[in-house]
Amino acid sequence: MIRIDRIMIKSQSYKVRKFVVRIFTLISFVFLLSCSTVHAHLTYDFNVDLKDRRLLFEDGAEKKVSEISEKLESYIKKIETLHFSNFKEPSEIRLYFFEDHLRYSKFTTSSAHGSAAFKKAFISLSSIIKRQSSDLCKNEDCPETVEGVLLHELSHLHLRQHLGLLRSYSVPKWFHEGLATSVSGGAGAGRVSLEGSKRRILSGSHFIPADKRIRFGSKTVGKIYSGTYRFNHQAQMFVEYLKSRNPAAFQKALVDIVGGKKFRAVWESYYGVNISTLWVDFTASL
Ligand SMILES: [Zn+2]
Repeated sequence: MIRIDRIMIKSQSYKVRKFVVRIFTLISFVFLLSCSTVHAHLTYDFNVDLKDRRLLFEDGAEKKVSEISEKLESYIKKIETLHFSNFKEPSEIRLYFFEDHLRYSKFTTSSAHGSAAFKKAFISLSSIIKRQSSDLCKNEDCPETVEGVLLHELSHLHLRQHLGLLRSYSVPKWFHEGLATSVSGGAGAGRVSLEGSKRRILSGSHFIPADKRIRFGSKTVGKIYSGTYRFNHQAQMFVEYLKSRNPAAFQKALVDIVGGKKFRAVWESYYGVNISTLWVDFTASL
């Protein structure tokens, strides 16, 4: 009995040590990361577009932002049409445009062409323009255009405006990314091919279609990682399957999700089956 108690105490103190080390590593990581990010947030200056004060930009981006300003309302309308509801606070949208990708990365901690925080989206203009003018994108379709990336980020902002920060975390990441990649015509999925994604899903490398958020990421199996082009492409395919299987049900489900209903519940209400069964049907259709 005494021996068992000692073993239990030993294993508990090991767990406590492991927990303390993890917390310390996390705090150190956040501290190091936040130093350059906090510095960027304190020191970076942005110009405000005089025609549309929702657009903020670095020196050198005036011309491009002026062109975007002419089209912003049409981008907003497109998202509202495809999400079946208006932005909650369209005047609160803030879009930041960077001329320098390194400065963008420091500010956002993202390496992608665009990213979104709660009510703000950040666009790395220079990296998008560099990518679009590459030989590869001259010969093939690269969906990460300025318009594509903007639509993708506006889709995220639309959901977050309605749900608020905490409730938007209850919606699984695959749905956020699948919807944003779908409504932006593939921005966020790079040049991942349909055949490649089908092959990966059928061979067991895919995201797990969770019906609730798993911590801050998304579970995957095989050779695919959360937040990558491949992940976004598979998520886009699944969202588009749901849409094409029953457009009226998809519209009702999305309206309910935006309205704050439980993500898990809406699929059974309108499709008659849960998200796991819908995934099985989706994979059978590939
Ligand atoms: Zn995204």
